[in-house]
Amino acid sequence: MTELCRCSCCKGPLEPAQQLRFLVETDTLDDPAYLARIRVLPAVNGKPVPVCKACQTRIETAPRPSASRTGGLRPPLARKLLGALGALSVGLLLTGLFAPRG
Ligand SMILES: [Zn+2]
Repeated sequence: MTELCRCSCCKGPLEPAQQLRFLVETDTLDDPAYLARIRVLPAVNGKPVPVCKACQTRIETAPRPSASRTGGLRPPLARKLLGALGALSVGLLLTGLFAPRG
């Protein structure tokens, strides 16, 4: 089975559940309320980062120095752009995944 993506921390393969989380979270960036309810993955600049289960556990147990608790400091336009970028990157990933090997 082709690996969709790899962990941003250790470059190891992502578990299917983590891959799905990454896809879901990148696809729902335009809806911060929904994202906040389902968010599991760590995020950098509001964009989910694909990490494997082991690294996620490690990140969650570590303190978050740069995490802002208030959240809404970024302008809506930046969120839209990030959402578009996320959708675009997922599209590229899927395109590469389903493209015939040549
Ligand atoms: Zn990892």
